[in-house]
Amino acid sequence: MKKHNFNAGPSILPQEAIEETAKAVLNFNGSGLSLLEVSHRGKDFDAVMIEATSMMKELLEIPEGYSVVFLGGGASLQFCMVPFNLLHKKAAYLNTGTWAGKALKEARGFGEVVEVASSKEANFSFIPKNYDIPADADYFHITTNNTIFGTEIRTDLTSPVPLVADMSSDILSRPVDVSKYGLIYGGAQKNLSCAGVTFVIVKNSLLGKVDRHIPSMLDYRIHIDNGSMFNTPPVLPVFTALQTMKWIKAQGGTKAMEKRNLAKASLLYNEIDRNPLFKGTAAVEDRSVMNVCFVMNEGYEELEKSFMEFAQSKGMVGIKGHRSVGGFRASIYNAMPLESVQALVDTMKEFEKKQ
Ligand SMILES: *Cc1c(COP(=O)(O)O)cnc(C)c1O
Repeated sequence: MKKHNFNAGPSILPQEAIEETAKAVLNFNGSGLSLLEVSHRGKDFDAVMIEATSMMKELLEIPEGYSVVFLGGGASLQFCMVPFNLLHKKAAYLNTGTWAGKALKEARGFGEVVEVASSKEANFSFIPKNYDIPADADYFHITTNNTIFGTEIRTDLTSPVPLVADMSSDILSRPVDVSKYGLIYGGAQKNLSCAGVTFVIVKNSLLGKVDRHIPSMLDYRIHIDNGSMFNTPPVLPVFTALQTMKWIKAQGGTKAMEKRNLAKASLLYNEIDRNPLFKGTAAVEDRSVMNVCFVMNEGYEELEKSFMEFAQSKGMVGIKGHRSVGGFRASIYNAMPLESVQALVDTMKEFEKKQ
C-alpha cells in the first residue's frame, strides 16, 4: 500500500533528492567511491558545498552583505550560538511555542532577555500581535513556524532591531524578504534534508560586536571565513539539501512552493472545518501552512483512537499529534504532494460516513 508520510521531522523529502543521495552513496560523481568515504576537501565535495551555498542564495534571493553557512548541532545549538554572537546586553523574544521557549531560555545565560509577548496561557494556539520591541535590544527573535502547535508567522515582520528567525520548519516554503532579517537559521530535517545539518543566513555587519570570547566552533565568522569547512561538515546532509534545493528550483522556486503549499493547506483545513467530526486547534488567521493540527470535535472525542487506526489502515503515517496538543498533526512540508493530502481528506470523509 502507498504510504503517505505526514511525519513532523525528520520528514518527507522529494523522491528525487532521496534517489540522488542513494546514487551518490553508492558511487559519487562516477568516482567509483561512495560519498561516505571521500574527503570533504576533495574537489567533488567542495563543489557540492559551493553549489549548496549559492543555491540557497539564489532561491531566497539573498542580498549582498549576507553569508550562508551549513553547520552541525541542529537548530538547538543555534539557540545558544545566536546569543553568543549577537547578545551584548539585551535581547527580545516572542514566545510562540516549545521551540521559541527553548531559544528564549538559552539566551538568558548571556544577558537580559525580554519576553515581548507569549501565547502560553492559550496553549500557544495563536501568534501574539500587539507588543513592543525594546528599541535598545540587540535583536528580536521569532520562530516563524511553530511545528508543534501549528501556527505560523507568514509575513516578514518589520522590527526596529535586527530580526532573528528560527525557520526550521518553513524554510523555502514561501518567498522571504531576507533584507528584513539579521539572521535566519534552522535544522534541515523538516523541509530541506535529512537530520544532521543546520543552515544559517546571517547579515555580516551584525557580527564581531560582542566583547565575550567566542569559542571557534561557535563563532559564525570562523565558519563564514572557512566556507563551512572549518571542521568536517555533515557531508551527506549537505548533499541531500542541495538535491532538495535543485528540486525546488525545478518546480519553479519559492513562489511555486508557496502556491503548492497554500493549495495543500487549504484543502486540508477546508475539510477540517467542514467535517463535523473534527476541529482545528490553531486560531484561523495564524494557521500554519506546514503543520496542520486538529482534534476530534466536541462529542466525538472517543473516536480518536478509532480514526487513528482507520487512517493508519489507509497508509497515513505520522499523523499522531504532539503530546502538548493531542489529537492529530499532519505535516505537509514542501515535498508533500497534493495527492497525499487528498488521500488524508478522503480518509476523513470516509470515516465520517462510517459513523
Ligand atoms: C525541530 C525544531 C527545532 C529543533 O531542531 P533540532 O535540529 O532538533 O535542534 C527547533 N525549532 C523548530 C521550529 C523546530 O521545528
